[in-house]
Amino acid sequence: MQGEQGRNAVQRGGFDPHTVFEKILAGELPATFVYRDDLVAAFMDIQPITPGHTLVVPLLKAATLAELPPATGERMFAVAQRIGAAIRRTELACEGINLFLADGVAAGQTVFHLHLHVFPRHAEDGFRWKLPDGYYTPPPREEIANTGAAIRAALAAD
Ligand code: AMP
Repeated sequence: MQGEQGRNAVQRGGFDPHTVFEKILAGELPATFVYRDDLVAAFMDIQPITPGHTLVVPLLKAATLAELPPATGERMFAVAQRIGAAIRRTELACEGINLFLADGVAAGQTVFHLHLHVFPRHAEDGFRWKLPDGYYTPPPREEIANTGAAIRAALAAD
């Protein structure tokens, strides 16, 4: 359902969210690939947050995390880890790496073919997470514990 919402959403940058990564993987749209194996591929983001911004993408069609086979997710993370290490060995001279995955419109997903962002960070690169109002006043511990208990119960019922 999230996928359908996303397909109808107004897209940042005017991308076609439904097909753009599928077309790239099929060689029908250009991209700068850095990696490909039997489960995933990685190519450079067309609108990099910082130079070196790379996307790790499953070869199979999975719009969201719920559709992603765990073995493919494991491979995505392992490849992102390798790419992060490779970026650190380039002349981009990064001081850190962020991994980021948006699952759903509310999480910022704009392309509904799942992807793991890998982007180099520098202290002065200008990228910042905007935290919600009230963030610096933590909720009571009991509230956090109750939420944790709800997640544990959901996991147990999995
Ligand atoms: P998200 O908002 O997490 O769904 O990220 C989508 C990402 O895909 C953005 O960082 C876009 O810049 C990137 N993107 C969109 N179209 C292309 C394309 N044709 N080639 C490479 N990256 C793309």
